Amino acid sequence: MYDALVVGAGLSGLVMVERLCTQLGWRCLLVDRREHLGGNCYDAPDQNGVLTHIYGPHYFRTDSPELVHYLSRFTAWHKTRYTVRSFTEGKYWSFPVNLRTFEQLLGRESCQDEFRRWLDEHRVPIADPKNSEEMMLASVGEELYEKFFKGYTKKQWCKEPRDLHPSVCGRIPIRTTRDDSYVDESFQALPADGYTAMFQRMVDTCGDNLEIRLGVDFREVKDTTAFGHLIYTGPIDEYFHACHGRLEYRSLRFEVESFSSRSLAQQGKSGVWQPYLQVNYPNSGQYTRAVEIKHATNQETPHTNVVREYPQEYTQDNDPYYPVPTDRNLMLYKKYAAMAEIQKGVTFLGRLATYAYLNMDQAVAQALRTFDAKFASCTKRRHPGLA
Ligand SMILES: Cc1cc2nc3c(=O)[nH]c(=O)nc-3n(C[C@H](O)[C@H](O)[C@H](O)COP(=O)(O)OP(=O)(O)OC[C@H]3O[C@@H](n4cnc5c(N)ncnc54)[C@H](O)[C@@H]3O)c2cc1C
Repeated sequence: MYDALVVGAGLSGLVMVERLCTQLGWRCLLVDRREHLGGNCYDAPDQNGVLTHIYGPHYFRTDSPELVHYLSRFTAWHKTRYTVRSFTEGKYWSFPVNLRTFEQLLGRESCQDEFRRWLDEHRVPIADPKNSEEMMLASVGEELYEKFFKGYTKKQWCKEPRDLHPSVCGRIPIRTTRDDSYVDESFQALPADGYTAMFQRMVDTCGDNLEIRLGVDFREVKDTTAFGHLIYTGPIDEYFHACHGRLEYRSLRFEVESFSSRSLAQQGKSGVWQPYLQVNYPNSGQYTRAVEIKHATNQETPHTNVVREYPQEYTQDNDPYYPVPTDRNLMLYKKYAAMAEIQKGVTFLGRLATYAYLNMDQAVAQALRTFDAKFASCTKRRHPGLA
């Protein structure tokens, strides 16, 4: 008998088991259908020993000192800065849009006032943007929308931006200063030894209270395992056998290209392959972005690698990555959320189970909040249902 069965060894599931095992002394079983810990945040060395973000780059950032404090129990940090360029019309543009981007557009130096005036003249007056196209037209106008956002969004989601919620494009900052940082948060750093090492330390602190079974699906254990409470971090529609219809997710294929120091030298390069951490390809090619994580990890190695992301339709043969925020999906999710609300002894957590675009810090915060609200006052080693 386990006090809790935790489905999904991603960040959400890991924070929850760490809390349940160490704070309440609960015995937990953690299962994941993947063969490793960490969910999408999993990283591992390639054949040359270069740390690789297997499921796309994971740039940790947060404004919360509490979250940094919590995670710092399991890792030291490598402070870094995430620098992105958008490659279009044959050149690398400063991105997200900022004063440098505007100067590239003009071909000369400018200033904040001139850029603000330009934006005021070019913005389409839409008071209450209802979708991503309106959102970007209202914030940067047609020219910058076409150059940087329209093609990228269509490639990423295989949908017209006008069919997507305003938040999809609205997440990306627009700045009139020369600040070209990819994100706004005050703390930008990667776990010093990588995410997987951090996750390993999290589960190590659980000691004998935790049993982990990888490569195991929830369906394989749910009827044969006795447990008090279920923490579920998989897709919510899957939990309910898609009884109201399937929620849409966007999937991705990640292609890793490794470069040894020799192959770099043959191309006249040394240490790194591309000039920036991340290069977006809004208007050409099949992939959305190419990421050379070594620019952020600053790993001391003469080798490197680049991971390219190819957006794909989600089928039963690949993984769900991004919830697709259309009106239809958000309505459907509400139906599943209402069913989840009345499930006894089950907690739905994380990106897939709450059908939300959660960054890592938001996923950790959600798990900690849920633990505090629902479990922290529970008697040690006893399930609330049994108390
Ligand atoms: C391409 C990409 C890039 C990202 N980049 C960033 C970034 O730069 N910065 C940032 O802050 N966030 C980023 N994120 C978000 C980040 O990945 C999430 O915040 C985080 O992974 C959420 O963790 P989770 O545990 O909720 O979900 P997941 O990591 O998806 O973990 C869920 C786990 O549950 C398992 N599972 C599902 N169903 C079952 C089942 N039936 N049985 C057993 N196991 C099951 C899955 O295999 C998976 O391992 C990115 C996400 C993606 C997809």
